[in-house]
This record gives sequence, structure tokens and C-alpha cells, in this order.
Amino acid sequence: MNRLDGKVCLVTGAASGIGKRIAEVYAQAGGRVAIADLRLEAAEEAARSIRDEGGQAIAVAMDVTDEQQVIDGVAKVISEWGRVDVLVSNAGIQIVNKVTDFSLADWKKMLAIHLDGAFLTSRECLRDMEKRREGGAIIYMGSVHSHLASKLKAPYVTAKHGLLGLCRTVAREAAEYGVRANVICPGFVRTPLVDKQIPEQAREFGITEEAVVKDIMLKDTVDGEFTTVDDVANVALTLAAFETNALTGQSLVVSHGWFMQ
Ligand code: NAD
Repeated sequence: MNRLDGKVCLVTGAASGIGKRIAEVYAQAGGRVAIADLRLEAAEEAARSIRDEGGQAIAVAMDVTDEQQVIDGVAKVISEWGRVDVLVSNAGIQIVNKVTDFSLADWKKMLAIHLDGAFLTSRECLRDMEKRREGGAIIYMGSVHSHLASKLKAPYVTAKHGLLGLCRTVAREAAEYGVRANVICPGFVRTPLVDKQIPEQAREFGITEEAVVKDIMLKDTVDGEFTTVDDVANVALTLAAFETNALTGQSLVVSHGWFMQ
């Protein structure tokens, strides 16, 4: 259990934060890891550090909103290692604003990264998984915001809810090929994505940064604690290594009890 020996794992947005830690944990579990990211240099650095630790990793340049880059990036992984067994669709950004202040361009950018990116990477990886009929796992990085809403996050909440629909459909369509699809829904994790939001929300709500953390971000957790990249990566490992279709079409909330299903 929880081994990925030889499995080829493509993780998007893996040059930083949650995706980077998932890539490291997958490599430690014996997986061969493709670090796909918009920022190629950072992806190469992450891949190099995994190789320095004795793991197998390559970097792949990929803007997940660009159909051709996704097609080429997945093809690169297949040409290197012959297959994709695990996709973690993780790349994401945050833009916070009131609905009444959001530009259409920002709205579309958010939906493109979170939803088009998940669709395009799923499609390309599933084409390989279905052809080979040797099973596979698709993991979407949702959020507690896949289940509830917060002020200022309309496109993020919309996109993260949307991933549940994509996941459930993929779970049904791909089951006959032994491919499982699940969503991980983390609470707040201290990554660059969250560090950027703290001063932004402090400004928007007219409160201190400490109050943003304590009274907004961690207010409804059971213990006032942030979720960690390790917490999320360990759940991602279990979902990737799970062996049967018993665990598919689900969302797993990893949030210190912020949201309880
Ligand atoms: P991060 O900013 O640390 O890392 C995101 C990575 O995605 C970066 O390396 C960035 O270059 C890459 N990226 C951005 N746009 C891309 C694109 N178009 N194509 C390819 N790569 C792209 O962020 P993180 O906190 O690790 O977030 C990762 C995922 O986890 C996101 O989907 C986010 O919504 C989700 N999430 C984060 C939190 C949190 O609290 N940090 C909570 C719940 C869910």
C-alpha cells in the first residue's frame, strides 16, 4: 500500500507549494514524476532536487490553459517513460475581488486555469490510460471552496465546485478502464498562493493580517491550525496508490475540520 513503484505521475503546478510536495512524496514512494509548470526554470529546479535525492523526475513546460502545450507536455512524458499512470491536476491561482468589481478577463482567467486546465490534462492523460487499459488515477486539487463559499472568491469557488462535476463524470466514464478520479479539498495551506491573499484580504476588509488568519482563514477549523503541504501530499499518495475502483468519484476534505461532510 502507498507505493508507486515505477508509476508515471504527472503533476501540474508542481514547481511550487502543494504540487511540489506531492511530486516529492510520489518520488519517495518510487514514482517517476513529471513536474509540469508554467515556470520551466522552477520546474527544472524542483526536478533536479528530486533527482539529487535519488528519485526520478523530469520537468515539463506547460501552461495548462493552452491546448497545444498540454498535448505536447503529455506527449513528452509518454515519449520519455511510455505512459501516464497518475495525473494530479493541481495548477491554480487565486484572484480575490467582489463580484461587482471582477473584470470579465480575470473571471475567464480563473476558470481557464482551474477548469480548462483540469479538462485538457484529463483528456490527454485519459486517452493514454484508456488505450493501455492498465488502470490509473486522476486527482483534482479542489478546495474546501469546492463545498462552501467565501466572500471575494466567486470564480475560485465556482471553478472548485465545477471540479466535483468533472471528477464524477470522469469516474463514471473511465471506470471500465480501471481509472479512478477523486478530488482533494484542502483547507488553507501556507503556500505562496495563500501568503499573497493575506495582505490583500486585510486591505479589502480593513482588518489586520493577523485577523485575516485567525478570524477568517482558520476561524472554523477545530484547532486553529493550517493544513500542511505534507497533509495534502499524503492524501494524494493514498489516492494515487489505491488499488480498486471502490474509491472513486469522491472528494476528500483535508481541512482541520473547517468543512465536515
Ligand atoms: P502555489 O502558488 O504555491 O503553486 C501553484 C503553481 O501553479 C505555481 O508553481 C505556478 O507557476 C503554477 N501555475 C499557475 N498557473 C499555471 C498554469 N496556467 N499552467 C501551469 N502551471 C501554472 O499554489 P498552491 O497553494 O500550491 O496551490 C496549488 C493548488 O492547490 C491550486 O489549485 C489551489 O487552488 C489549490 N489549493 C490551495 C490551497 C492553499 O491554501 N494553498 C487550499 C486549497 C486548494
